[in-house]
Amino acid sequence: SLFGKSAGGPVHLTAEESPTGTAIELDASPMTLRKDDRAQFAFVRVRPDGNLAERFREMTTRLSSSGLPSQATREDSHALERDIAALERMAHKDPLTGLENRGAFDKHLARVLGQALRDGGSAALVLLDIDSFKVLNDTWGHDRGDECLRQLARVLAPAARRPLDLVARVGGEEFAVILADCSLHNALAAASRLRRSLQAAALEHPYGHVTASIGVAATTPADRKDTSMLFRAADRGLYEAKRSGKDRVCAGFLDQEPGRTATT
Ligand code: GH3
Ligand code: MG
Ligand code: MG
Repeated sequence: SLFGKSAGGPVHLTAEESPTGTAIELDASPMTLRKDDRAQFAFVRVRPDGNLAERFREMTTRLSSSGLPSQATREDSHALERDIAALERMAHKDPLTGLENRGAFDKHLARVLGQALRDGGSAALVLLDIDSFKVLNDTWGHDRGDECLRQLARVLAPAARRPLDLVARVGGEEFAVILADCSLHNALAAASRLRRSLQAAALEHPYGHVTASIGVAATTPADRKDTSMLFRAADRGLYEAKRSGKDRVCAGFLDQEPGRTATT
């Protein structure tokens, strides 16, 4: 159990399970030291965006200035350090597939788009949704469905080829690839490669093999508004891929945004 080894007293850990990952929150409640000179952490919650390292430093500083025997302090802080590192890793991973989770995806997309905005560069997004996944679940059961998601994740993972690219599970059977500094042309090529990799993997499905519909969009953002449109544009591409018969790649365009007027 987390923190269990290092703490002498009871430890209350709340990990809120989100659909695609573990949201853990570390709040500012005080660490108390008990009379038996063992540390007790009251109500520790770890938040994915929270400053864990800062909080950890604060706790260890208090541990070492508390007059505990130095050996105990070192053991406590080493155990804590391991636990905190594990929590930090968990906070942005999807537990089922090991891919990045929705929270990490949102954060990274904002970062990549911010970078593109500053540099006058571009960024692309690939959204992928498994076709007729419900049929697989209903026919072979939820466990087989989960296994299929894990296998698909292994097919998708290599799509992140550059350091700023990121593959995430953004919903139940929906995945996303952020391609930093990438044009629509190159993003469409990447999406087609994904589709072919999926064909080559030949994952079993009651209808034959697992296929996916893929929406692609790219932007060279000129202002903040453009950055929020990328996801919606990729989602329109995905919708079009489903609507026109599934198992295909479709582009979604930013300038279809309702209410957006052409500049003259
Ligand atoms: P479409 O081709 O239109 O995308 O159809 P679909 O059946 O893939 O889509 P639909 O949205 O109807 O159903 C998605 C299914 O995905 C329903 C749900 O049971 C399943 N699902 C969502 N998350 C998980 C999960 O974590 N594990 C498993 N096994 N199934 C999941
Ligand atoms: Mg879906
Ligand atoms: Mg689906």
